[in-house]
Amino acid sequence: MDSVALERIRQEALLACTEQFAHIDTISLHNTQKVLAAYRDAQLSSYQFAGTSGYGYSDLGREKLDEVYARVFRAEKALVRPHFVSGTHTLATVLCALLDRDDLLISLIGAPYDTMQGVIGYARETPRSLKEKGVRYEEVALKANAYDLDGIRTVCQEKQPKLVLIQRSRGYSSRASLTIDDIRQITAAVKSVSPQTICFVDNCYGEFAAEEEPLEAGADIIAGSLIKNPGGGIAPTGGYIAGKANLVDAAADYLTAPGLGGELGSYAYGYRLFFQGLFMAPHVTAQAIKGAVFAAAVFDRLGFKVSPSYETPRSDLIQTIFLENEKNMCLFAQGIQTFSPVDAHVTPIPDDMPGYADKIIMAAGDFVQGSSIELSADGPIRPPYVMYLQGGIVFEHNVLAVMSAAQYIMENSEGEGHD
Ligand SMILES: *Cc1c(COP(=O)(O)O)cnc(C)c1O
Repeated sequence: MDSVALERIRQEALLACTEQFAHIDTISLHNTQKVLAAYRDAQLSSYQFAGTSGYGYSDLGREKLDEVYARVFRAEKALVRPHFVSGTHTLATVLCALLDRDDLLISLIGAPYDTMQGVIGYARETPRSLKEKGVRYEEVALKANAYDLDGIRTVCQEKQPKLVLIQRSRGYSSRASLTIDDIRQITAAVKSVSPQTICFVDNCYGEFAAEEEPLEAGADIIAGSLIKNPGGGIAPTGGYIAGKANLVDAAADYLTAPGLGGELGSYAYGYRLFFQGLFMAPHVTAQAIKGAVFAAAVFDRLGFKVSPSYETPRSDLIQTIFLENEKNMCLFAQGIQTFSPVDAHVTPIPDDMPGYADKIIMAAGDFVQGSSIELSADGPIRPPYVMYLQGGIVFEHNVLAVMSAAQYIMENSEGEGHD
C-alpha cells in the first residue's frame, strides 16, 4: 500500500466520522458552557490561583477549586487535591472511609479495574486491603458481556450492601462502557430494593464524554484522576471526589485525619493549572474521543476488527484495535511513538511489567508522566493481540500518529492479507 492509498484512507475516514464528530462537538459545547457557568457563579478570579504553604488554612484556591468541581459535577461537595497520587488513591480513599469490618461491598459490573482488585484484596492478596480489614466483597457477573440489571436487583434486594461500586469506563475489559442512562437504570434498580445502599461510581475516563455526569443519574459519590479527562491535559497531578456532603467529608477525614477533613492542605505551586485544565477539559476530552473514533475508522478500512466502531456513540476514551499478531502490535506502537511530542526517537519493545502475566508493549511520550488523557497505546502480547489506544489532547496529533501506525503496519505486513 503506497502513500497515495493511505492518504485516500485518511480522507475517507475523516469523511466517515463527520456525523460522530458533530455529535462530540455538541457535547463539548454543552460541557464548556457548564464549566463557564460554574466559574461565573463561583466568581473565579486570578488571585485565587495563588499557592499557600504549611497547613494551608483558608487556602482560597483550594476552596474555590472544590467549589467549581462541586458545581460542574452537580455535587453537594467536592474534594479536589494535588495530594491524591492517582485515580486509584481517590477510589481507595472513598472505599476505606465508607466501609468498616463486616460491611458488604458489591462490584455491580463484574470485576473492577486492575488496581482496584489490589485495593479490595480479592483477586489478589494485598497487605492492608479492604479484605484484610474485614470488609466482605462480592461481584455481580456480567451477562452476555453487559451489566445484568435483573441480577443487580436480585442481589441488592437479598444482600442489602453498604456500598456498590459502578465502573463507568470499560477499563481494560471488553464490555461496553456505561452510558449515563445505563448508570441511571443501575442506581434506580439498586435504590428501589435497597434505598440505604451508597452508589459509588468510578468516573475515571468518563468525565465530559456525555452532557451529564453520574451524580445527575442517581450516584451518591464519584471519584477520578486529574491526569485524565478533568485535568484537561495540563493539571500536573491529583484527583477528585465529589458527591453527598457527609460522604465527601468522610473521605476527607480519611485522606487527612479524623477531625481535620478538607480544611487543611497547601500547595505552594498554586492552582492555575487545575482551573485552566478544568476549563479546557470538555474540549480536550472531545479531542481524545475524536481521535479514538478516527482510529476506528482508519483501522476498520484497513481490514482490522475494532471496538467500538467509528459509528458507536462514545462514553469513554478507549479504542481497541485487534491487530492479529505480535509483529503488528510492535509496528503500531512504533508508529505512534515516532509521532509522540516527547521520546519520539525511542523504539517501544514488549517487556515484563509488575502485576501482569504477559509481556506488555506500550507507546507514550507524555508531558505529564503517565497521563492517559495524552495519547498513548498499550496492550498485552497475547491473543487476540488487542491494542488499547487512548487520549490525545490535540486531534491533529492523533491523526498524524494513527496514520503513522497504519503506515508502519501496511509497509511491513505485505502479503499477509492487508494489502
Ligand atoms: C485509570 C483508571 C483508574 C485509576 O487508575 P490510576 O492509574 O490509579 O489513576 C481506575 N479505574 C478506571 C476505570 C480507570 O480508567
